[in-house]
Amino acid sequence: MPRMVFDQVTKSFGGDPVIADFSAEIEDREFLVLLGPSGCGKSTMLRMIAGLADVTGGAISFDGEVVNDLEPKEREIAFVFQSYALYPHMTVAQNIAFPLLMNAFRPWYHLPVVSAVMKRAIARRPEVAERVAEVARTLELTDYLDRRPKSLSGGQRQRVALARSLVRDPSLYLLDEPLSNLDAKLRTQMRSEISGLHRRVRKSFVYVTHDQVEAMTMATRIIVLDAGRIQQIGTPEEIYGEPANTFVAKFIGSPGMNLIPATAADGRVTDARSGQVLDRGADLADGDYLFGIRPEAARLAADGEAGPAATVTTVEHLGGEVVAGCELGEPDAEAGLTVDLGGTVFIRTAPHPSLTGRGRVRLAFDRGAVRYFRADTGQRVPATRGTPQPQGSIR
Ligand code: ADP
Ligand code: MG
Repeated sequence: MPRMVFDQVTKSFGGDPVIADFSAEIEDREFLVLLGPSGCGKSTMLRMIAGLADVTGGAISFDGEVVNDLEPKEREIAFVFQSYALYPHMTVAQNIAFPLLMNAFRPWYHLPVVSAVMKRAIARRPEVAERVAEVARTLELTDYLDRRPKSLSGGQRQRVALARSLVRDPSLYLLDEPLSNLDAKLRTQMRSEISGLHRRVRKSFVYVTHDQVEAMTMATRIIVLDAGRIQQIGTPEEIYGEPANTFVAKFIGSPGMNLIPATAADGRVTDARSGQVLDRGADLADGDYLFGIRPEAARLAADGEAGPAATVTTVEHLGGEVVAGCELGEPDAEAGLTVDLGGTVFIRTAPHPSLTGRGRVRLAFDRGAVRYFRADTGQRVPATRGTPQPQGSIR
């Protein structure tokens, strides 16, 4: 069970690096999620961990041993891809058993292995049948062992693919967007199944996704990547509550953190566009910032409570809550309903009669939840500890 260390890992395919300066330490038995938008380098990073792609610079080590030059099969790794291919002509049991019998088939590796051959091979090796049964129980596939993939649902097929990678008892699991081909309901179900699997097998997982909900619900730690560079490393709580920069603040959450261009002078923070006061007594040097507030930390001001005026522009009902988009600023009296556009602030709050289109409201922010970011660099103030700072930024 390896402790993984990445020391300034880079990867380039000739042009600009696709992964740059990737340094991180991953403890044993972590559920690490590599999170970032499409094309940011997640799969490339995972393929380097697996040994399926060369490392251009830097080192990857498992338990102190540099593995840059180890073959994939020397790394005790199971790899689950986004598009998993099951053998259609084999039963579920034979599909799951395949990795255990691969050595026996190696001489004929380039030939399609026929189901009857598999069946005899499994029959000769009771320990294989036993292991298949055990893994099938873990993933609730016992009743399907004799079926063929085409008579399974998408979720069941995905579980067979997982079972197949599980059967060899690897020490490290690499999963590359394994749920992205499933519908929403199955995705939710598989999320908890994979989390349960991680708890039961007590091994390290590295899980790649662009879906922040998957990251938040499954990870013990998240590495947020953008354009091949680490933006932040932290627990889901840290990433959510203390985003290192505006990229992370926006990428996590639905909607993401509100970021309102603001100016600080003598601790008084005003909305840069409407001039309204957003905060008093802020511990900030004078200058330009982004005032950050999560939608659930913004609400309607109580009667008599001070707060910036806004006009409701969009309302989305989520059952017990609403997400309302509010334009900061006073409506222009002469133009009737035309709003002096400030920033749009999304608030997530209890339904209220004034939360309808064109409703005039006053907003209030939970002060403890306010986060500030430098307007020029996008870095949080004060800087989050343990997060790489771009050169030239001021802490
Ligand atoms: P992600 O998995 O985050 O969507 P990838 O790791 O697949 O991103 O790709 C990151 C970047 O590397 C992309 O710009 C992609 O075009 C580029 N890339 C990936 N593989 C290759 C390759 N074999 N040759 C050239 N460029 C590649
Ligand atoms: Mg990918």
